[in-house]
Amino acid sequence: MILSGKELAANIKAGIAADIPHLKEKYGRVPHLVVILIGNDPASESYVRGKAKASELVGITNTTIRKPVETTEEELLSLIYQLNRDDKVDGILVQLPLPDHINEPTIVAAISPEKDVDGFHPLNLAALYQNRPCILPCTPKGIIRMLKAANVSIEGKRAVVVGRSNIVGMPVARLLMNENATVTIAHSHTVNLAEITRQAEILVVATGHAHLITEDMVSDGVVVIDVGISRNPQTGKLVGDVDFDNVAPKASVITPVPGGVGPMTICSLMENTVECFINRMKFKKNY
Ligand code: NDP
Repeated sequence: MILSGKELAANIKAGIAADIPHLKEKYGRVPHLVVILIGNDPASESYVRGKAKASELVGITNTTIRKPVETTEEELLSLIYQLNRDDKVDGILVQLPLPDHINEPTIVAAISPEKDVDGFHPLNLAALYQNRPCILPCTPKGIIRMLKAANVSIEGKRAVVVGRSNIVGMPVARLLMNENATVTIAHSHTVNLAEITRQAEILVVATGHAHLITEDMVSDGVVVIDVGISRNPQTGKLVGDVDFDNVAPKASVITPVPGGVGPMTICSLMENTVECFINRMKFKKNY
């Protein structure tokens, strides 16, 4: 089965769009997402446009703030503090990666945790790793949603996650564990990766290393979630971390690139923005 995220994401976004008028009626305004883009990296430009388009589709307010690549860390921090204080802003997202002269962890930690729609703030991640309520990082959240929608049973399965970033690998491993999978996390220092990946009943790959996973590295019937995105320098096309054509015949379920996990990431972002909005509105009501 080729597991496309497009249809599922479209359904979830339609559900959000249907809820927005009720939220407006109840709270007097719609959720507001602010996206900050530093510089003009083409891939980041396209992600930012995708976020604006999805916001428009579901009916939330999106403000994209574009700043030149020379923007200093202090200027960016000052902008974030201003947005943190702005009562009419519910979600703040700084498009990554940032230019080298800006320290990413400093920026991510400056965003108010209650407006951290990406779920990257250290306090959100700490809560996730402690299995406490938090804003879930978008891509891992979308992956679990996709697996459930495809009726893939996770409980008791041997899952292997290749990649250990705080954006994808580690949170997805935690969420799989929450579903009672037994999880192995592999990374760039893993010795004999193939030996590990062949044990996987569910394989999530998030390395950014094109076609890292070949057919000899998976067992029959495996469920493959390909998160990686790279661009083929010859064709300019997007490719995943999995050699799709050769792995697909062995897999019971596999996600394509593009069109697999990507749409679910944006749809989780829309959900997180609404969640932050509702949490803030409830907080205001109670105090
Ligand atoms: P990072 O670069 O932060 O992390 C990559 C991880 O892959 C690291 O843990 C690294 O190991 C590991 N790795 C790299 N090379 C190998 C290798 N040869 N064998 C085993 N492990 C390896 O990337 P992200 O986690 O942020 O993103 C991963 C990919 O997912 C990227 O292609 C990104 O574009 C894509 N992505 C896609 C999204 C979507 O919506 N579809 C959303 C977010 C990301 P180590 O820790 O040892 O360095």
